[in-house]
Amino acid sequence: MTSNTRPIVGLHHVTAIASNPQRNLDFYTQVLGLRFVKKTVNFDDPGTYHFYFGDDQGRPGTILTFFPWPHAMRGQRGAGEVVETAYSIHPASLAYWQQRLATLGVATHTTERFGEAVLQLEDPDGMPLALIASDLSAGQAEAPRFADVPAQHALRGFHSVTMVQRDADRTAALLAKMGFLEQQREGNRIRYATEGVAAGHQLDIVLDPAANRSRLGAGSVHHIAFRAVDEQDQQEWLALLGREHVVSPVMDRDYFRSIYFREPGGVLFELATDAPGFAIDEPLESLGEQLRVPAWLNSHLQQIEQALPAVTLTKRSTEEVL
Ligand code: ZN
Repeated sequence: MTSNTRPIVGLHHVTAIASNPQRNLDFYTQVLGLRFVKKTVNFDDPGTYHFYFGDDQGRPGTILTFFPWPHAMRGQRGAGEVVETAYSIHPASLAYWQQRLATLGVATHTTERFGEAVLQLEDPDGMPLALIASDLSAGQAEAPRFADVPAQHALRGFHSVTMVQRDADRTAALLAKMGFLEQQREGNRIRYATEGVAAGHQLDIVLDPAANRSRLGAGSVHHIAFRAVDEQDQQEWLALLGREHVVSPVMDRDYFRSIYFREPGGVLFELATDAPGFAIDEPLESLGEQLRVPAWLNSHLQQIEQALPAVTLTKRSTEEVL
């Protein structure tokens, strides 16, 4: 890290592939109690949706996004990909989530890592998720406005992601440059973390020299994005990372500006700015309720909406606590 490049504090968002859009929307809002913070299209393929879920405010470090491709085949887990996305929960919320998921028919498995309880589950496309009971959880828990999860049990932003790699050395060198340093090891799992306690400040590599190459599909993570403080910071990272990696030019994603590069093990990394955020094109009060498209597609909004499969956002409230 050069002296003028500010350290990365943690993850900004995780983007994955789903199949059925309605099933994806229902699972993340009604089962996990996340807020639907944006209904838009894939800017590179406006005939398909891009869904964003997050905390009530849509803060960086809580955002899980999906490309729901109705005919997507399931992906295959393997090396060079993120194989688990974990949110933090308060340690006292573990029993709540075990009970809630059981009641809703979601199978779970409880294990332990680095002294923390880990509740593993899969989404309807087989995407591996975990809820990790952590005192370190930085994101404040806020009542999900349209979900029946009580405030104290709400997901508190990302805990970490886990990548599988055949060899960690070159990836670890890049992570170190980005401010993620090795903290501890447990079996073949290595934990890296930045300083501070921002949501998503941790990242694990599971070493598996014999792992097959992954195959992208429904239930796979497409890329992970880290936080850049602002556009100037992003430019500095672009210059620094560009010395050793092929980095894309800055792309305007409406809700943030992004650069992309592939880490040596094969995972697509993005560096996204915190600003301008999800309230740039609709009020915070009604995030996710209407289809939003970038300005250059606005004149085609109606045709785009008609061509997309219709989805319904069901709002619940903490009055109907499960
Ligand atoms: Zn992204």
